Amino acid sequence: MKNIKDYSLEDLKEQLKEIGEKPYRAEQICQWLYTEKVQTFDDMTNLSLELREKLKSNYNICNFKILRKQESKDGTIKYLFDVLDGNAIETVLMKYHHGNSVCVSTQIGCKMGCKFCASTGINFIRNLTSGEIVEQIIKVEQDTGERVSNVVFMGIGEPLDNYDNVVNAIRKINHPKGLNIGARHISVSTSGLVPQIYKLAEENIQCTLSISLHATNNEKRSSMMPVNKIYPIEQLLQACRDYIAKTNRRISFEYALAKDNNDNLEDAKELVKLLKGMLCHVNLIPINKIENGQYNKSSIENVMKFRDYLNDHGIVATIRRELGSDIEAACRTAKKKKFK
Ligand code: SF4
Repeated sequence: MKNIKDYSLEDLKEQLKEIGEKPYRAEQICQWLYTEKVQTFDDMTNLSLELREKLKSNYNICNFKILRKQESKDGTIKYLFDVLDGNAIETVLMKYHHGNSVCVSTQIGCKMGCKFCASTGINFIRNLTSGEIVEQIIKVEQDTGERVSNVVFMGIGEPLDNYDNVVNAIRKINHPKGLNIGARHISVSTSGLVPQIYKLAEENIQCTLSISLHATNNEKRSSMMPVNKIYPIEQLLQACRDYIAKTNRRISFEYALAKDNNDNLEDAKELVKLLKGMLCHVNLIPINKIENGQYNKSSIENVMKFRDYLNDHGIVATIRRELGSDIEAACRTAKKKKFK
């Protein structure tokens, strides 16, 4: 049975026509799903009993179960959701002064094999559907009773490897009849899938593109991120320049600093050369050590020196605040467990 949250408003109108119902009912259904966040079709009380029965026999409402919930002392909450097919995914809620931000997963497992990421030990099982991506935000809002104002696609999975579902999810998150979260409050990260970056540039979505760069030369980047052997730095940065030219949107570069690997001043100098003149921002992340991982966390003094060098040479750089480290929810350590 299909997940009703996988349909856009327009697709749902078509679906309703097929089952002999008036298309305007689609707006009422979306209101129940995304504004009221009901968990059963029976809760859609302004729909006729007959329509509710039809919906029940044609669709499921995708109501994830919370398998585990860990709360950090800084307010971060890490959820393990049962996605109702025997698999589980993690979603993290981070609380900032500007509002609540949810980090969603896009795949069960990941194919990319980045060496610093704990997801690397988790086999790829399948893509999440657009409705399953959106459901993570709905479930967090239901659980906390608080509105989510920002969404980052930085959980388990390579978002642009699940391109269509991710783009459809973004449209639903952004749509006024969906979750109604501004596109500028949505960030999509990629390890560097160049063809999909070009495709995304054509979508006319005002979300932020975030590139996991992490190294300044191909040898080092390929050793950290196998995707670099297919799309080396030159191609990736050209795609970024073309993306900026097409969208006029600033790109965010993620740079995870690992001790004695990519955190010295020479790396900072190389990074300045690579990004000079680009409409961008650099997010520095002190890397988190993972089980069997080969990288260690850079000292805070080093991270600050690195940031200052970039800022002094015309590249806007900030250090990402680490949230939820006591519950392993900090970036790229949130994926340590095998889920089945
Ligand atoms: S960093 Fe992202 S793309 Fe790389 S292995 Fe981890 S989840 Fe996959």
